[in-house]
Amino acid sequence: MKEVNFLDRVMEFEQQLDSMQKHFRELIGFVAEMTEENHSLRLENHHLRTRLDEIDKITQNIEETARDERPKKLDVGEGVDNLARLYNEGFHVCNVHYGSSRKGEDCLFCLSFLNKQNG
Ligand SMILES: [Zn+2]
Repeated sequence: MKEVNFLDRVMEFEQQLDSMQKHFRELIGFVAEMTEENHSLRLENHHLRTRLDEIDKITQNIEETARDERPKKLDVGEGVDNLARLYNEGFHVCNVHYGSSRKGEDCLFCLSFLNKQNG
């Protein structure tokens, strides 16, 4: 009786080992699948980040061009041109006498102011 019982136990144990091995193989297959998927997701993520950076740069450039450069250059340029014209027409553009007639005399304040704007 004892021997039969022992043989039963060994066979049972062998079945358990087979079952565990099968589960283990499934697990390895699952891990391999996940690793592959993780790798391709990382790659895709990297590509998407690169594209996003490119789009960000392009958007930033467009915004800078539209918002900063164009208006500033036009505003300052036109402003200085207007002031230079006003000065040439015989009026002060300096803080000291702004808008009043130069009475045909050059004004150092005006000239220094215009020089600063052009520089
Ligand atoms: Zn002046």
